[in-house]
Amino acid sequence: MTSSNSFNVAVFPGDGIGEEITKPCVEILQEAIGKVGGFSASFDWLPAGAGNYRDTGQSLPKDSMAKAAKSDAILLAAMGLPDIRYPDGTEISPQIDLRFEFGLYAGVRPVRSIPGLSPVLNNPDAHALDFVIIRESTEGLFASHGKGTVTNDAEARDTLLITRDVSERLFDFSLNLGRKRKNQGKSGVVTCVDKANVFKSFAFFRKVFDERAALNKDVATDHMYVDAAALNMVRKPWDLDVLVTENMFGDILSDLGAGLIGGMGFAPSADIGDEHAVFQPCHGSAPDIAGKKLANPTAMFLSGAMMLEWLGDKHGCNEAEQAGALVRAAVDAAFANGDLITGELGGKAGTDDVSRAVMTALKELDPAQHGVG
Ligand code: ATP
Repeated sequence: MTSSNSFNVAVFPGDGIGEEITKPCVEILQEAIGKVGGFSASFDWLPAGAGNYRDTGQSLPKDSMAKAAKSDAILLAAMGLPDIRYPDGTEISPQIDLRFEFGLYAGVRPVRSIPGLSPVLNNPDAHALDFVIIRESTEGLFASHGKGTVTNDAEARDTLLITRDVSERLFDFSLNLGRKRKNQGKSGVVTCVDKANVFKSFAFFRKVFDERAALNKDVATDHMYVDAAALNMVRKPWDLDVLVTENMFGDILSDLGAGLIGGMGFAPSADIGDEHAVFQPCHGSAPDIAGKKLANPTAMFLSGAMMLEWLGDKHGCNEAEQAGALVRAAVDAAFANGDLITGELGGKAGTDDVSRAVMTALKELDPAQHGVG
């Protein structure tokens, strides 16, 4: 851990709704930072994405990449547009390239209900969902990204990769998170989600999980096949705490998780490696609603909160952790009375309404009541 209280954040607003949700997010983070005090952050806006590729021929310019590599954290909104593609027809997705480039193996996808939002599941326990999916983000089926083959227009192949090195680090990260959550009064059970009954690669994934679990006996662990995990996420998600899984399974299950808490606009994420981390909402660039001020910026705000907490934890800066917690508390306060209803949930609240409500709540919050001061 390096001790620091001055951070440089590389900001990628990207495409589609990206810029609309990044602007209020940075304003809210700056407000929280000023309110808590004791540390500072500068925000360096960098070009990248499908629009940049259209305009300059580069999806992730070298200069942006170099600045991101030197930054303390990367805040990314969304990248990619369906009608702008590379010559081979594939979509432009520099956010996936960043995961490989910086070794961001731990994709952290919290599934936490926001008080005040109508739960999607009709069960009293569904008001307070709080579990985390850890999606491995550099290998699995996505290791085949750009490498798949089609032979004679008759057979297609993509190869799934599981390595011991990345799996060990992924499981250690997940077991540490389970330990932290247990200390916060949650169950802290870490469940390995796989398909070990059918595939060698997943039997290996599970074997490595069990080896790491044996070295962390204070953390309770479990196993679940991915099909059962999908069922249990709908049947009794309140029983889950930390789920760790392969890249493609995590991609699918985390969208299911977002659905459980109201939609993509409420689901934040972090892609974390040993040195770098990217914080971005789970959703894409949503071109269908871009420019209409309809995008829900909540997932972006919560991703920013995760970023401040990660910076605080990594650099021993309590104030940054407290500012992150304050942003989350402001989001909760903004939605608490049930009047703020976004488009995904059938309401009319758009980007400006949500941003204003969260900023107002943040200004009214007393940091001392959130462990600050
Ligand atoms: P990607 O493949 O890049 O993840 P996607 O194809 O999953 O993207 P999204 O861009 O995430 O698509 O959008 C999926 C749907 O969710 C769209 O109808 C979009 O309008 C909606 N959506 C996504 N993000 C938001 C948001 N922040 N607020 C409101 N609606 C959203």
